[in-house]
Amino acid sequence: MNPLKLAIQKSGRLSEDTLSLVKDCGISFTQTSGKLKAEARNFPLEFLFLRDDDIPQYVANGIADIGIVGDNVRAEMNENVEIIQKLGFSKCRLSLAVQRDFQYNNVQDLAHKSIATSYPNILKKFLDDQNIQADIHVISGSVEIAPSIGLATAICDIVSSGSTLLSNGLKEVETVFKSEAVLIGTPHLSAEKNAILQQLKFRIDAVQKAKDYKYILMNVPNHAIDTIHKILPVMKSPTILPLALEGWSSLHSVVREDDFWQIIQHLKEAGAEGILVIPIEKMIM
Ligand code: ATP
Ligand code: ZN
Repeated sequence: MNPLKLAIQKSGRLSEDTLSLVKDCGISFTQTSGKLKAEARNFPLEFLFLRDDDIPQYVANGIADIGIVGDNVRAEMNENVEIIQKLGFSKCRLSLAVQRDFQYNNVQDLAHKSIATSYPNILKKFLDDQNIQADIHVISGSVEIAPSIGLATAICDIVSSGSTLLSNGLKEVETVFKSEAVLIGTPHLSAEKNAILQQLKFRIDAVQKAKDYKYILMNVPNHAIDTIHKILPVMKSPTILPLALEGWSSLHSVVREDDFWQIIQHLKEAGAEGILVIPIEKMIM
C-alpha cells in the first residue's frame, strides 16, 4: 500500500503540538536527525519534515498529499489547497500595530501610510476589503522594529500575547486574521489515499473530542438523581451505580470542559458530593 504523505514543520512553533497529535492518534515513527522523511511503523503514513512556508506549495503540487500548517501561512501562500480540518492548536492572530503615541481612531488612519509585514497578501486583502490604499513593505523578520527605525508607520504581524509589541513601544489596533493550525490537502487524492485520510481524520476527531470533554463522577443522594440528571448535558444518559451506603448512588457522565465551571455549582446545590473530573483519552460518538 502506498502511504499517505504528510508534510509537517521540521522544527518551530507547530512541531511540538503536531507531534503530540500524531502520538495521540496512536501513530509512531522514529525521527532521525537530519533526515527529511520518516515512515510510520503502525499506520500507512509517511512524514516529510519541511519549513512551514513550503508546505502549501508541496501539498498543491502533490509532493505531499496533506500537510499541517498555520492557517496564516495557508492564506498567505494562496496555493490551491483546502482546509480538511481545523486542529485547534498554535492559535494566534495577525494584527496591525502602531507606535504608542500614534493617534489611532480607525483603519482609515493608515491610508497612504507605510505598513511593514511578512504577510503582504493577507494584509492587502484586508485593506482592499476596507477600500484602503497603503504602501506595503515586505520584510521577512523582526517586523516589530520597523516603526522605531522609521521604516514604516505601522506593522502587520503575528501576535499571541502582545508582549513583544509592548516591549517595542507598539500598540495593537486591529485584528487582521485569526489563525490556528490546520490540516490541508487537495481534492484530487487517489481512492486508496483518501481511504487512509478518512482513517486519520477519524482518529484526529476522537482525539479532539476527548480534549473538549471530561469524564465526571459524583456521589448523589437518590432523591436528587432526577435534578442532577437535568443539570448534566450528557451524551445519552448517565450511568448510575448504587453505593454501599443506603440511599446514595454514584453517577457517571461526560461534560464539556467549557460547561464544567458553570455546572459545578448547580451540582453541589443539588446535593452532589465527592465530584471527580477526569481527562478522557479518546472519544468516539
Ligand atoms: P520555519 O522555520 O518552519 O519557516 P517560522 O519561523 O516561519 O518556521 P514559527 O515561528 O515556527 O515559523 O511559527 C509557525 C506557525 O506557528 C506560524 O505560522 C503561526 O501559525 C504559529 N505561531 C507563530 N507565532 C505564534 C505564537 N506566538 N503563538 C502561537 N502560534 C504562533
Ligand atoms: Zn516559516
